Amino acid sequence: MQKIFAPFDGWCAPLDEVPDEVFAGRMLGDGLAIDPTSGVVLAPCDGEIATLPESAHAVSIRGPDGLEVLIHIGIDTVRLGGKGFDACVKPGARVQRGEELIRFDLDLVARGAKSLMTPIVITSDGAVMSNRRAPGPVRAGELLFEVDGAASRRPLSPQPPLSSPQSVARAERAVVVALLQGLHARPAALLARRAKGTAASVTLRAHGRATDARSVVGIMSLGVRRGDELLVQAEGEGAPLAVAEMFAALAEAERMDSAHVGVSIPAAATAAAGPAARRSAHPGELTGIRAVPGFAVGRATRIERREIEVSEPGCGEIHEQEELERARANVRLRLERIRNAGGVERRQIIGAHLEFLDDPGLNDSANELIAAGKSAGFAWRGATRRSIATLQSLDDSRLRERADDLLDIEAHVLLALAGEARPLHLPLPEQAILLADDLLPSELTALDRRRLAAIALSGGGATSHVAILAAAMEIPMLIGIGPLLREVPDGQTIIVDADKGTLHEAPSADAVAQAKTLVAARLARSAALRAAAVEECRSLDGTRVEVFANLGSTADALAAVENGAEGCGLLRTEFLFIDRATAPTEDEQLTAYQSIADALGGRPLILRMMDVGGDKPLLYLPLPPEPNPALGMRGVRTALSHPDLMRTQLRAAMCVRPQGIVRLLIPMVTDVSEIAAVRKVIDDIGAELNLQGRISLGAMIETPAAALTAAALLREVDFLSIGSNDLTQYTLAMDRGHTDLARRTDALHPAVLQLIAAAASAGKVAGKLVAVCGGVAADLTAVPILLGFGVRELSVVPAAIPALKSRIRSLRMADCEKLAQSCLGLPSAAEVRSMVERSAGEGGGRK
Ligand code: PEP
Ligand code: MG
Repeated sequence: MQKIFAPFDGWCAPLDEVPDEVFAGRMLGDGLAIDPTSGVVLAPCDGEIATLPESAHAVSIRGPDGLEVLIHIGIDTVRLGGKGFDACVKPGARVQRGEELIRFDLDLVARGAKSLMTPIVITSDGAVMSNRRAPGPVRAGELLFEVDGAASRRPLSPQPPLSSPQSVARAERAVVVALLQGLHARPAALLARRAKGTAASVTLRAHGRATDARSVVGIMSLGVRRGDELLVQAEGEGAPLAVAEMFAALAEAERMDSAHVGVSIPAAATAAAGPAARRSAHPGELTGIRAVPGFAVGRATRIERREIEVSEPGCGEIHEQEELERARANVRLRLERIRNAGGVERRQIIGAHLEFLDDPGLNDSANELIAAGKSAGFAWRGATRRSIATLQSLDDSRLRERADDLLDIEAHVLLALAGEARPLHLPLPEQAILLADDLLPSELTALDRRRLAAIALSGGGATSHVAILAAAMEIPMLIGIGPLLREVPDGQTIIVDADKGTLHEAPSADAVAQAKTLVAARLARSAALRAAAVEECRSLDGTRVEVFANLGSTADALAAVENGAEGCGLLRTEFLFIDRATAPTEDEQLTAYQSIADALGGRPLILRMMDVGGDKPLLYLPLPPEPNPALGMRGVRTALSHPDLMRTQLRAAMCVRPQGIVRLLIPMVTDVSEIAAVRKVIDDIGAELNLQGRISLGAMIETPAAALTAAALLREVDFLSIGSNDLTQYTLAMDRGHTDLARRTDALHPAVLQLIAAAASAGKVAGKLVAVCGGVAADLTAVPILLGFGVRELSVVPAAIPALKSRIRSLRMADCEKLAQSCLGLPSAAEVRSMVERSAGEGGGRK
């Protein structure tokens, strides 16, 4: 019988009260939990320190019977990275009951953890507990529970003697995967990253296959779908903790999946493109699937993909390994450059390629081939092709489509080995319509966007990364046309109508002329709008309205300036580091912000503090699961609960030059106390940096509470910016990402309009600017209403600026004011929309 004593003072509770499914579900074993009131962990029994990670947030002790007890200080404390914890002993040390093991800063840990509730569990298999302490106060050294001796001699794994320095621990748990899309690239990356951070070696098994958990490709190759069983096995130091980490990663992936963060799939591209030939009932017309809408006429242009030659025999293992290492290092640098130059989609996709490049599964299998005497190129191709074959054998189209990404990374490395690089620019004729069987992401990003009119593919995947990139680049794209596409002669004039899903392979001269007229009219209109957009914007009666852009990258900033943006009204800073596993440093943030400020060429930059939580999870800031994330730790609430991250970001923002160009914006505000807390940090940093004057500070109006107390907020801030996306969600109680509610989540609902009107009117009274940066600002029907309420700054996606400026120029303020007032009393968004339409017909409020 082994006795386990309380490691500190506190409140004893059953494991069910631990807010973490891994512990509450006893996945790591049975035990009790204590909510600590003292910050020193004492040994709960005599034994040897079996695990003590560097972060010192947990410790396990192996007792004389081989029984293992794990003390995990708080929940989700691994993310503190050791901050607030000090180990007093080393792994392998023998300790006596009551000896100090870890000291921790109760306050600091409490602020950074999801909960301080500390599970004390027996991780040895089959342990039977008795004499458990009842819930209530407990003092350090008092008995917590006893473990049946027979059971305690059957630990989780075959245990070598305690004295053995190579003592091996094993742990394993099975789980049914609940992820909607199974273990696709994103959760695989998440698991792999967490696995790399554990000392134990972790193996994942499913469908009779096994993989090293550090390999993204390996995890995807398991082909795990929703409802499949996944076995997590860990071996070595900290094995139980490693299993817990994998479970935490799966839970995190589920939250990210349900939040749909990141790349979105083009709405119309819902079916995977099949290989069948497709000819429509109309002669000369091929049919396909719309991946990106649009219309184009141009010259059929093929790009040939040349197979890169590699010789099979190598010149010695060491030489070939060095060659492969060098090539991978070159490709890494290059991909990082390409990633950093792009928008959100490009960053995420190239980020996934970087993961593949360092994938241990791929590298191990390449090294095996090198060791067998093969050249680096032959080995790399062998390794990637092996993984591609596995992915292609899976019956999940999303995973099959990732094979393209592997082909891409294969080509990058083979070219680097040959001393070449994938061309950053592939030549194209004017008005090229690119025809190919399929296209790789790097091939698309290498094409000259200005010459590329459309893309048509015989194959292609609806959810492929290349389709997502094309959508971001606004290139019409048709996929799944089938082998008949190969018969279209190179250089032939063709028409792609992606909206209708057709390709005219031999249009008549009349049809070509008509298509050219249509394209020319569309281009002329957008060119005229763009040309006019560089001018400042006034309504018909001369009222000045500023049009800003919402940005997520330097590339966005350059596009915004080209489109006539007068500044940035919303920099979504959380998007800049969305694919990072670790928090960006102050320098990294400053570099990113400065680059955007430079791209804006002296125009103002409204930089929003990180807006994390709810629908915007971040890899480097895993948040605990919440029953209702949209109403939980979001925006400024998350920032205030992570003071170090907030401070680092504010310092970086305040160092951007020239001083005064950056204005700060606080997301998801509910009351003035949040503003005061942020303001205090800003003032402290201002003093540290010796800054003259106070930085301009604004609050977002995204909650009904903020809209209704706008007057009070305006006493603390210099401006307000209305985030209509969240304001609509919280006013109508409709999830902004809910597909079935999408039509009804309309910011022109009179209830939302009343809140916007309230905030705008508080701004007028205070004489301070009220802007709108939510999606409603780009809704041309909404524009006269917003201006009628007194909004004088609108911030929209760069591409929407020319049309928005044109709309504003057609409006008269007196009409807008009248229209806005009448809309307030209407019963529904639909009636608001028809009133605006009617008023346009009458010449009031529309051009
Ligand atoms: C909004 O909520 O309207 C807004 C601009 O913020 P985000 O869309 O980034 O949540
Ligand atoms: Mg928002």
